[in-house]
Amino acid sequence: MIDLRSDTLTRPTEAMRSAMARAEVGDDVFGEDPTVLALQERVSDLLGHEAALFTPTGSMANVLAVRSLVGPGQEVLCESSAHIARAELGAHGAYTGLTMRTWTHPRGGVDLPALQRLFAPDMGPFFVATAAVSVENTHNFAGGTVAPLADLQALRGWADEVGTRIHLDGARLWNAHVATGVPLRDYAAVADVLAVCLSKGLGAPVGSLVVGNAAAVAEARVWRKRMGGGMRQVGVLAAAGLHALDHHVERLAEDHEHARLLAEACGADPAEVDTNIVVFERPDAAAYVASAEEAGVRVAAVGPTTVRLVTHLDVTRADAERAAALLARL
Ligand SMILES: *Cc1c(COP(=O)(O)O)cnc(C)c1O
Repeated sequence: MIDLRSDTLTRPTEAMRSAMARAEVGDDVFGEDPTVLALQERVSDLLGHEAALFTPTGSMANVLAVRSLVGPGQEVLCESSAHIARAELGAHGAYTGLTMRTWTHPRGGVDLPALQRLFAPDMGPFFVATAAVSVENTHNFAGGTVAPLADLQALRGWADEVGTRIHLDGARLWNAHVATGVPLRDYAAVADVLAVCLSKGLGAPVGSLVVGNAAAVAEARVWRKRMGGGMRQVGVLAAAGLHALDHHVERLAEDHEHARLLAEACGADPAEVDTNIVVFERPDAAAYVASAEEAGVRVAAVGPTTVRLVTHLDVTRADAERAAALLARL
């Protein structure tokens, strides 16, 4: 069975497991786990921000990041198929008490005129106040699409002019960086606060980070504990993340190549595939998923008529070629 349902399915490699076994640890709630501290410093440095905080999941990282910009009864603007809007089970509403309004973009990107029309920071005591804008790069449900740096920079310029702030869901920012060659810091510079994941294509079993200025990260640390996310000798997990940053970033280019190969086999346009995710339409996504499974390939339905497949560390070139041949016959 070749499993293309998600890049979260990767299992830690032998080398990663041995890095985890050797990790120096301490109590991270006391701020005394040297491996967690090293990971946080490494990631904040890579992204050019002051500080970072390790979290168990990307969803928690997003909740902590967005709540550092948006309070209860305020709103964040985002794209209509954003992960924060669709795939975090309403966490931002449930925990923070914020609301969302959305613009729609065919590739999940920034539509500046549309979000300028939505933007309402202060329309009196009748309208929800917009406190921030959230963007996602790469965009998961739009098919791993990369937001062009120029669009993000234009958004940043406008945000500075009008005095609003930006959250970046960078769960797969690594993929955008590898696909385009744009430095991670350039992408991260458009955001006031961002979230990145180690547990997707980078192949760590667990782990994400909130990244931003020292005050935002200090506050995120309080809220992480409050939400039950204060972890103890978690350096064993941070070691997996450090190993992934050392060994699994540049190889994402292979996943991107495999995704284009699979897109072609499924009748999607490989030129539209920016990274490791392929999204395509079928009249009945659930039926397609079932017949793919029968043929020996697991893919996922992400809408009634939308199928998604994702390449990752545990899918070799030979696996990708075999999956492409099997899917081409469906
Ligand atoms: C996976 C993902 C997250 C975080 O997901 P968790 O499963 O909570 O780690 C956040 N944003 C995007 C775009 C994702 O794909």
